[in-house]
Amino acid sequence: MEEQSNTPQTGVVEESGASAERVGKISRRGLFGAAAVVGAAGVVSRSVPAMAAARVTGGEGANLPPDLILTNGDFHTMDAKNSIAGEVGVRDGRIVSVGRKGHLRKGGARVIDLKGRTVTPGLIEGHVHIVSLANRPGYHVVIENARNVAEIQAMLASRRKDVPEGQFITAMGGWSPNFFAERRLPTLAELDAAVSDRPVFLYGGGIGRTNTLGKRWFESQTPAVTVGPDGTMAGGPAGQNNLALYHLRVKQTFDDKRRSALDCMAYSASLGLTACLDQTLPPDSGPLNPKQGLGNLNNFRMYDPWLSLHREGKAFTRLQMNFLHDQNDMALPELKERLKNQFQLFGDDMMMTGGIGEWGAPGDGEGPVWLEAQRLIAEAGWRNTNRTLNAKGLEDIISGYEKIHAKYDISGLRWTIHHVPFATKEQLERMKAMKVGVQSGCWRYVGGVPGNAGAPFRMIMDSGIQNGIHMDGVHIAPLNPWMAVYYAATGVNSMGQLVNDGQQITRQEALRLYTRENAWHLNMENKLGSLEPGKLADMAVLNHNYMTCTDEELKRMAPVVTLVGGKVVHDTGALGRQA
Ligand SMILES: [Zn+2]
Repeated sequence: MEEQSNTPQTGVVEESGASAERVGKISRRGLFGAAAVVGAAGVVSRSVPAMAAARVTGGEGANLPPDLILTNGDFHTMDAKNSIAGEVGVRDGRIVSVGRKGHLRKGGARVIDLKGRTVTPGLIEGHVHIVSLANRPGYHVVIENARNVAEIQAMLASRRKDVPEGQFITAMGGWSPNFFAERRLPTLAELDAAVSDRPVFLYGGGIGRTNTLGKRWFESQTPAVTVGPDGTMAGGPAGQNNLALYHLRVKQTFDDKRRSALDCMAYSASLGLTACLDQTLPPDSGPLNPKQGLGNLNNFRMYDPWLSLHREGKAFTRLQMNFLHDQNDMALPELKERLKNQFQLFGDDMMMTGGIGEWGAPGDGEGPVWLEAQRLIAEAGWRNTNRTLNAKGLEDIISGYEKIHAKYDISGLRWTIHHVPFATKEQLERMKAMKVGVQSGCWRYVGGVPGNAGAPFRMIMDSGIQNGIHMDGVHIAPLNPWMAVYYAATGVNSMGQLVNDGQQITRQEALRLYTRENAWHLNMENKLGSLEPGKLADMAVLNHNYMTCTDEELKRMAPVVTLVGGKVVHDTGALGRQA
């Protein structure tokens, strides 16, 4: 039944063509027809935008027998036709066959019955600072999914059992007090109530917060940290939050960092986020000092723990690393050395170098140093990214790119602009003329307001430009990509306010950006981003039907199984133990 093809839908799908931007156009013009058909077939029960998709009727691939069969699933393949399949065969970590349920002979293959669950390609984050999360000191807890102080307390308490005596439980960045009903962090008393026999340190919302044991420890350090009676370590010019962070970083061992890197991968896998394009951070390669904030890491050494795990075959989510250089010096010594001595796009499918991003020099499009950096990057033939925070910044970057493009053809280098909270159709056309791509930012989910939110997802989608999507975790925004999908599809921020009305895209479009389109930004579109024969078997088995669940369920999506290269890297046990 469910795999039966539906001729009218197929017609719509074929018209939509291969590219997401075409699908975007069709989805407005032609989706109502498709939705009616799908609705009549009883697939869509809610008033969410329907998929213009056909069910796969046969099987594609399978020249080699699979060693793993995932069957009885609702596979959103994100292929050129947005096909939905019922069964996928995997061999040696790659997809060998995609088709209707029952199209594969079991043979000796291991079979996982997905019990009708939605499966998506592994999500790909197009702009994130995940290597920073991998370097967090302490036994780190990600609290970005907590809805209130009580849930934060429960998360900290459940971490407690793994934490040796004297070691800190930490929760740093990615979240905002906006996420919590009380709009504040837990107090010292509330942290004590959650964990009384281990020190606790929270860093975020511009301050630090600790419990009684933590207060005692921070006050005993040299230099001593000033901790208020409610456990607050003031941020800003006082910098007591950064001083506290410094004391934890000084104590952190290489093994501690490896543990945090594994925790980071596990959290990412639990979200179905299987590949990330890291954008470094404002780097600080000098020795550790109390002025450094959470984002300041040594941009030459911050990869070491992840690299060591990768070398041992223990890394289990994919990482591509862009390199950021922040020297406001016309000679640009560091960038020059990078371009001279580093290979771009070098490594393997689990860990490889990227290009330059999120900037090669400060300025966001302004000034001669920034422009000279773009020239050097073009001359070296590197991929390049810049971020824009406002309308002026976008215009500056586009005109800078145009100046460089006049001398060096950048159209084959995959230069991109990220965040893009504002854009005009004319600007998007100028970018298209240079084959410059966009990463539409979702980070205004955290606290965007009407008139200052963005990205203009709908306009960008309809322009037909090479598109992508990102959240920008894990300092100012969460890592959780489902919050980003939710924001792009609803225009509603973390406090429940509609801030980006008129620029919503469909769930189908948002998912396509997070998979197939983002793969392009990693130069990995031939390996990642869709469930098709020949691609790496990265996928997420969801706990809700992606197309029909409520917006609240979408935001809180929690995959039950995640696979990377055909290996189960996350498993809640909902399908029986698979790991
Ligand atoms: Zn960023």
